[in-house]
Amino acid sequence: LENAVIKAEKLAILGQMAAGMVHEIRNPLTIISGFMQLLQNHLKGTSKEKYISLSLAELNRVNNLLTEFLQLSKPGYSKRIPCCISKIINDVVMLMESEIFRRNLEINLDITNDLPAISGDSDQLKQVFLNILKNALEALPNGGKIFLHTSQSKHEDYVKVVIKDTGVGMDEQTIASIFDPFFTTKEKGTGLGMFIIKKVIDNHGGHLDIQSKPGNDTTVTVLLPTS
Ligand code: ADP
Ligand code: MG
Repeated sequence: LENAVIKAEKLAILGQMAAGMVHEIRNPLTIISGFMQLLQNHLKGTSKEKYISLSLAELNRVNNLLTEFLQLSKPGYSKRIPCCISKIINDVVMLMESEIFRRNLEINLDITNDLPAISGDSDQLKQVFLNILKNALEALPNGGKIFLHTSQSKHEDYVKVVIKDTGVGMDEQTIASIFDPFFTTKEKGTGLGMFIIKKVIDNHGGHLDIQSKPGNDTTVTVLLPTS
C-alpha cells in the first residue's frame, strides 16, 4: 500500500509539472500565433503567404499535442461520480455538430435516456467519445455516415456505446498498433487519441473493442460498468 501511495504522489507531482510546462509553452505559442496572423494579413495574396499558413498549421499541431499531453499527465485514477452516458454523448455530438453539418455528413443517433448511471469522471469520458468521434470524422474525407448507438449490455451491468463510421477503415497492422502512443497514419495526427481512450476506459474498469477492414466500416464498441 505504501508503495502505491508513493507512486500516486509521484504521478501527481509529475502531472503538476507537466501541466505547468504545458502552460509555459502555450503562452509564447499564443503570442507567436498572434503575430503570424498579423503577418498573414500583411502578406495576403503574395507568394510568401503559404509559409505563414504552413507555420500556423504547425503551431496548431503543437497546440493539439500539448492539449493531449495535458490529458495524459493527469493522474491515473479518476473521479468516481455517477454520470449519465447519454448526456455525455449528446454533449459531444453537440460539440461536433457544426463540423458534421459543414461537411454534409450523415449522423444517425440512437441514444436512449433510460440507461443506468455509470460511476466515473465525466470530463475524461467526454474526452474519450470526442476522440472516437473525431477519428470517425477524419476517416470520412469523402463523406459518409456515422452511427452512434447506446444500450444496456446483455449482462445488465454494463452500458454499451457503439460508434460506427463508413470511412476508410483499417488494416490489421494499424489495428495492432492503434493503442501505441504517437502511432498515427495521418499527416497532422498526434497518435495520442486512442492511447488516451484506452487508458481512461481501463481506469473505469471498462472494455474497448475495434472492428475494421480496409475500405470498410469501422466499429468502436465501448463497455462501461454501471455503478
Ligand atoms: P490520430 O487520430 O492523431 O492519428 P489516434 O490515436 O486517434 O491518433 O488514432 C491512431 C490511428 O488509428 C489513426 O491515425 C488511424 O490510422 C487509426 N484510426 C483510428 N480511428 C479510426 C477510424 N475510425 N477509421 C480509420 N482509422 C482509424
Ligand atoms: Mg485521433
